[in-house]
Amino acid sequence: MQVFSCPGCDQLVFFANTACLRCGTRFVFDLDRLSMVALDTGVEPCANAVVAACNWRAAGPGQRCASCVLTRTRPADDDLRAVAQLQVAERAKRRLVFQLRTLGLSLAPRDETTGTGVAFDLLSSRQAPVTTGHAGGVITLDLAESDDVHRERIRTKLSEPYRTVLGHFRHEIGHYLFPVIVSQWDLPGVRALFGDETLDYQAALDRHYRDGAPPDWRERYVSEYATMHPAEDWAETIAHYLHLRGVLQTAAAYRLRVDGPDLPGTPTPSLASDPAAVDTSDAGALIDAWLPLSYALNAVSRSLGEEDLYPFVLSPPVMDKLSCVHDLLLRAGAASTLPRHAPR
Ligand SMILES: [Zn+2]
Ligand SMILES: [Zn+2]
Ligand SMILES: [Zn+2]
Repeated sequence: MQVFSCPGCDQLVFFANTACLRCGTRFVFDLDRLSMVALDTGVEPCANAVVAACNWRAAGPGQRCASCVLTRTRPADDDLRAVAQLQVAERAKRRLVFQLRTLGLSLAPRDETTGTGVAFDLLSSRQAPVTTGHAGGVITLDLAESDDVHRERIRTKLSEPYRTVLGHFRHEIGHYLFPVIVSQWDLPGVRALFGDETLDYQAALDRHYRDGAPPDWRERYVSEYATMHPAEDWAETIAHYLHLRGVLQTAAAYRLRVDGPDLPGTPTPSLASDPAAVDTSDAGALIDAWLPLSYALNAVSRSLGEEDLYPFVLSPPVMDKLSCVHDLLLRAGAASTLPRHAPR
């Protein structure tokens, strides 16, 4: 995430803010300018400003912003508990839409007649079960994932080291991106790294929940879930690539750098990272900057008695997969908008 300043007085404000605590200026986030714009300049707030607690700008009166317009289904306004969960989910989705835009990728709302674009169904599972996932350009989220107690219970049950709403969206958008970017540019190269994504999914799912991940999974995969099926490995890798880019962008914005630690016998710190100076077109440079930064951030997190901030290990095969994803996203970003191929 980049840093933002108040359009009235230039004080630091944050991505979810709607007003400046110093000068009182009310503002909205403008996705095209990637900055905050004062409301008194005549810009329109998103029509979902209240129900989705959205602070983005809309193109015109009564319209939804570029993030809210992607939501196809949401709870009714009078379902207050589900609406509170919706606000958490929409907040995470705005981070996803923002990040993809900074990578040059604009998500188009789903067009049901052509079967292109993406839609989000953000559904409460209190009345009927909801399965979080992606199918044919539609990303579904069980809004119970917005609830910390529920999410932590599932995380513990599945022995996952990390589970967040933003992480769900980064994973599911990976599924959405697969057919729209891979088939166009490098399907054989992707299959060589990740495997054949057309393998029987149900059989892979059954095997995974029966046998678990292979014991040596850390040598080739970023997570146990990634071992289940090539399509899940791809989605997990996209999610981790977006984690890495998101944190590096934040670190660069705050001029956060790592110059140490000083280790005996090594005169020059080998674990140095300066995210603001990284060539973001170079996958190797991004990973080189990421590793020392994540070691330092994990150490800081442990100093607070928390678990690792980034509880994953990037083995060489995982770095190769991240580099592949980087190259494809770079090409898709350079093409300025996602090719409008019909998703599976
Ligand atoms: Zn201000
Ligand atoms: Zn909105
Ligand atoms: Zn998945």
